[in-house]
Amino acid sequence: MVLLTREEQFRKLFPKAPAFRFRQMEEALFSPVFKSFADISNMSLAMRELLTKEISWLAIKEVQVLESAKRDTFKAVVEMVDQKRVETVLMKNARAQWTVCVSSQVGCAMACTFCATGKMGFTRNLIADEIVDQVRFWNIFLRERPKLAQRISNVVFMGMGEPLANYENVKETLSVLLAHTDMGMTRITVSTVGLIPMLRKLLADPKWPAVRLAVSLHSADAVTRQVMMPSSFPAFLNDLAVWTQEYFEKFDSRRRHLTFEYVMLSKINDTEMHAQALITFARKVGNVRINLIPYNFIPQTSKRSAEQAKNVYRGSLPGDFAHFEKTLEEAGVTVTRRRTMGDDIAAACGQLIVDKSES
Ligand code: SAH
Repeated sequence: MVLLTREEQFRKLFPKAPAFRFRQMEEALFSPVFKSFADISNMSLAMRELLTKEISWLAIKEVQVLESAKRDTFKAVVEMVDQKRVETVLMKNARAQWTVCVSSQVGCAMACTFCATGKMGFTRNLIADEIVDQVRFWNIFLRERPKLAQRISNVVFMGMGEPLANYENVKETLSVLLAHTDMGMTRITVSTVGLIPMLRKLLADPKWPAVRLAVSLHSADAVTRQVMMPSSFPAFLNDLAVWTQEYFEKFDSRRRHLTFEYVMLSKINDTEMHAQALITFARKVGNVRINLIPYNFIPQTSKRSAEQAKNVYRGSLPGDFAHFEKTLEEAGVTVTRRRTMGDDIAAACGQLIVDKSES
């Protein structure tokens, strides 16, 4: 099935329309008052009618929305025109505004062993409209619930998929969000497994916006990282260190916008040896911020293979977690801890999965 972007659909409908007409439509999609194409009063009635008939206002539709017991996290399963499904999450952030977590692919090819999405395999890339509309979906959701805080202040690419494996669509999404929302570049974070060729590409790309980047490091020991993340390779840590230095040279002012993520797995990557390896690595690359992530349990499915059954991860014990954190701090490494949200509705990091039979 060929997926047409909104722009392609628009051009098919109105081949002779001047370029500003499409921009006008795109702007309307982000209007806080418009609910449909019919509301775009500065467009001709005929145009509005045709748009309403031929193009959907949202490229995704709601299948299910779950709310966490604390009411600070919502997870939506949404469906696209080809019936494929992804999940998107809305979380209350420290400023009591909302952060939207978007998916960039249906499934993921990276197969990280501790991540639920990694177990789905890869189905397809999302087009920019489908990623942008996850943010619009939550905007509409909030507008329908005036008692909730209304402002979406941040977007993180930490849902399903590897954003840099879908480079062009993610870049387009960033440019649309930056153009049509009040979110600036520091309010958007792209999280990546660390695809070195793509990291190099964005560094050389004048059109890649200076959004925040988070690299899923998870271990500064090459063997451990390879076990956790099959996409790793022996020279990865060295390549990442070289890239990080280039990044800092090129964008010195962006220093604070690069983070390394580190999911804490008991006895796998939280030992003294791992702490020391991480300290050495952090010093080598110029002290990037390390964000420690509590491991979120992945609900087991009946389809689980015998091999996977043996390979069940557990999150670091509280004492080990604290010790690891303290060891880094004492060595002068900047370290933060991620709050876990929405784990009761399987909306937390690494828990997003859509059953294959449904997707
Ligand atoms: N593909 C991107 C986005 C993944 S999700 C990436 O690899 O960065 C965002 C973060 O959640 C990543 O750091 C990912 O490694 C982490 N994560 C995956 N599974 C997790 C789990 N079960 N518990 C906690 N964090 C997890």
